[in-house]
Amino acid sequence: MGKVIGIDLGTTNSCVSAMDDGRPIVIPSKAGYRTTPSVFAVTEKDKKLVGHLAKRQAITNPKNTIYSAKRLIGRRFSSPEVKKATKTYSYQITKGPHDDVRVISGGKEYSLPEISAMILLEMKRIAEEYLREKVTEAVITVPAYFNDNQRQATKDAGIVAGLEVLRIINEPTAAALAYGMIKKRREERIAVYDLGGGTFDISILELGAGVFEVISTAGDTYLGGEDFDTGIMDYLVEEFSGSTGINLSDDRMALQRLSDAAEKAKCELSAVKEAQINLPFIASDTRGPKHLDLRLTREKLAELTKDIVERTIKICEETIQQAKLNKKDINEVILVGGQTRSPLVQEMVRNFFGKQPHKGVHPDEVVAIGAAVQAAALTEEKTELLLLDVTPLSLGIATHGGFFTPLIERNTTVPVRKSHIFTTARDDQTTVKIRVLQGESDRADDNELLGEFMLSGIRKAKKGEPEIDVSFDINADGIVNVSAKDLETKKEQSITVTASSGLTEDEVRQMAEEAQMYELELKQ
Ligand code: AMP
Repeated sequence: MGKVIGIDLGTTNSCVSAMDDGRPIVIPSKAGYRTTPSVFAVTEKDKKLVGHLAKRQAITNPKNTIYSAKRLIGRRFSSPEVKKATKTYSYQITKGPHDDVRVISGGKEYSLPEISAMILLEMKRIAEEYLREKVTEAVITVPAYFNDNQRQATKDAGIVAGLEVLRIINEPTAAALAYGMIKKRREERIAVYDLGGGTFDISILELGAGVFEVISTAGDTYLGGEDFDTGIMDYLVEEFSGSTGINLSDDRMALQRLSDAAEKAKCELSAVKEAQINLPFIASDTRGPKHLDLRLTREKLAELTKDIVERTIKICEETIQQAKLNKKDINEVILVGGQTRSPLVQEMVRNFFGKQPHKGVHPDEVVAIGAAVQAAALTEEKTELLLLDVTPLSLGIATHGGFFTPLIERNTTVPVRKSHIFTTARDDQTTVKIRVLQGESDRADDNELLGEFMLSGIRKAKKGEPEIDVSFDINADGIVNVSAKDLETKKEQSITVTASSGLTEDEVRQMAEEAQMYELELKQ
């Protein structure tokens, strides 16, 4: 049997890992890179590029360079997050047939699972090149706070890339697995603070002899390093406008350069106290070209981005409460994600937890390593690893009056199955419509619609008489399934959940065929 790889499919960068001689290793690309930018582009000559090559040409080809796909995957086009991205991203975002999100590159429309599949194909290629064998199976990580649609869409991306996704695991849980590999067999309670390019997660886990149990998890799938960059960009645009009267916010190419410079300065400021931002010929007016030349200090960066870190701290506070714990009950705090290199983040996390975060894991690689550890545990017969994760969001149904009735509360250990008896509201009613939702609001409409289905073929009877037992399952991937049974006739009900923002099976199959062609092209 071939090797199973672990892939950290990140907002900004992705990383691939596998077991080698019983130890997990990060697989470098031929060029020596240990992480790959999660960027896809189509050039003017209609050539598809992924990773470093795609990122390198982003400034000169901003309209066709797709980045941060993870912030859009599995979301509805009409959601506020996508509206925001439509205004700020340099590429075009449009509406797909299922109110899903599509992006345009090289004049062609792509679904988000297709874009993520390109990144996965590249990670698979890097692994195959290094391992010198074909890879067909993978464990892929997602933010703990991803809902069912986002998980399903990530799984679809795996299928499109020709990978059998053995398991979807949560990033902070993967990080804890990797951490557990280093510190074997010690009982402790840890917090994993994961701030990446686009998402934030916090998970509290209990570790003991081979058992990794998540107690609670929370997060924000639209909060990350990119928001730091945007904060700096807004400041640069304002300063430039103040000194020249020119507004750069409508110039896509200038914005791409500003975004790059902002991120570079931000990263520099993690190591030094001051950074120079120098962008010659960023604009011009009747008097000639204009240059942006500005010094950014660590203090100024902290002032611009403090509120973002405060948002994460607030979420940490809520998670600890949810876990019915106290801050001092946490033995170790582990930092994951590139953005945790920022001194401001480290300081605020240290102040909140009242202890120095653990420095022994590599924030960019630890998630992929954990995925490889889990992959090995799933495929090896003898395993001493037990992973107990939780569902990050409550699962329930819409009930009369627009309310939301949770059936499976958040932070319940998965896999889990809960049933609910449905009946009819009218005499001789033969169908009932059920809307499945995920979220924490009392109002149905404020939660994420996972899908709706009709319970049909109910025998004609007086209202309230028929008893239909509907089961809601959440599997170990965090993916939801629904089934139903008529308790009197014992007949299974045929129900089809129509995903609200995913792709149909046919669409996924067709995309997979196209991706195979691309993979061939890539190999040639
Ligand atoms: P990840 O999604 O974990 O790859 O994290 C990527 C995010 O980390 C991006 O927003 C990067 O700009 C940010 N990042 C990477 N290195 C640093 C650094 N040295 N200081 C601050 N942020 C960083």
